[in-house]
Amino acid sequence: MTATRVLVLNSGSSSVKYQLLDMRDSSRLAVGLVERIGEEASRLKHTPLLGGEPREQNRPIADHEEALKAVAVELAQDGLGLDSPELAAIGHRVVHGGKFFTQPTVIDDAVLAEVERLIPVAPLHNPANLTGIRTAMALRPDLPQVAVFDTAFHTTMPESASRYAIDVRTADEHRIQRYGFHGTSHAYVSRKTAELLGKEAEDVNVIVLHLGNGASASAVRGGRCVDTSMGLTPLEGLVMGTRSGDVDPAVIFHLMRVGSMSADEVDVLLNKKSGLIGLCGDNDMREIRRRIDEGDQAARLAFDIYVHRLKKYIGAYYAVLGRVDAVVFTAGVGENAAPVREAAIAGLEELGLTVDGGLNSVRSDEPRLISPEYARVAVAVVPTDEELEIAQQSYALVRGPIPATTERPGAHL
Ligand code: ADP
Repeated sequence: MTATRVLVLNSGSSSVKYQLLDMRDSSRLAVGLVERIGEEASRLKHTPLLGGEPREQNRPIADHEEALKAVAVELAQDGLGLDSPELAAIGHRVVHGGKFFTQPTVIDDAVLAEVERLIPVAPLHNPANLTGIRTAMALRPDLPQVAVFDTAFHTTMPESASRYAIDVRTADEHRIQRYGFHGTSHAYVSRKTAELLGKEAEDVNVIVLHLGNGASASAVRGGRCVDTSMGLTPLEGLVMGTRSGDVDPAVIFHLMRVGSMSADEVDVLLNKKSGLIGLCGDNDMREIRRRIDEGDQAARLAFDIYVHRLKKYIGAYYAVLGRVDAVVFTAGVGENAAPVREAAIAGLEELGLTVDGGLNSVRSDEPRLISPEYARVAVAVVPTDEELEIAQQSYALVRGPIPATTERPGAHL
């Protein structure tokens, strides 16, 4: 039997998200989430997609090992157990791969050691990713496990973009540079955009705007990233749901000296209590739009600051690329919030950028153009699919080319 399935695991500090995909047609066989791991009120939600109702468990789940074992039981109940010969690999999202992981990588002890060595630059993410990997390896030691790094797509950035202008020795000693994140999404979306334009990825220059709760922009020249807005950590760049994005670094020591805040307090302020939520108390763009419609001034200002920053990055990356074939919006806000797309592109006609109001207001799960036919530069919406990208990269690494079929084994989300 040919193994055609990949289990994708995204392990957070207190959660595990998973999807089981069949590579023959990129369909999902099951998806699910375990959250609040380590708390009393843990929850597992499992959705089989070949038939059957979603199932939920509400009980304490002590750690990642217990969580993954519970997931394995759920999958087995649908005939999709982890012991199935049809499982080709487990693909893990790993947030920080530093400078050296430029490609998806089969995990061995050396890879684990390197991901561990990167913990100081990714203290929130890499430990959780490692726990997920170690647990999955213990469950299926014989199966290839692949790490797909959020940073990998950005390792092609030239040093002129990736280095900060700080003392070189200090930067090198502490591995301080711009790494960028959301790379799996930027890679997938820039490739899909080339397809949408009917061109090869090597022939197009694209500005990708990944606007989820976290948000980042990237400049992609001929399929390779040349600049991105997130930096040493995912805090830099655009205004996000709860993160400030760019601030004058002096704000930090000012708060420590004059505001008597500790480094940890400033960290929490900028990562968790800033961005949209800090500006207006809400981080959901739907709620912000609703409040704006009711005349709420704080929501209006938060929206305007968000859009202003976005527009600055579009202009900056236009200049970095020199020639732009498409500006593309993706992730929760980018795919759904037509007013954000309209406002970010407004006034950029001289750059060849225009949004067609009618096309922009169409709701769809498909990649689509929202610029008028005559526009010099395409503006597009391309739904991202990080899990599919992780599954495809993992499969290609351990098995080679994706098997083609006309069968449709599973369900499409
Ligand atoms: P994450 O970074 O958590 O993966 P997502 O890409 O799922 O985030 O984006 C989540 C965000 O998308 C929400 O916080 C909300 O602001 C926004 N969003 C989702 N649906 C809509 C919608 N229909 N209209 C406007 N914004 C939306």
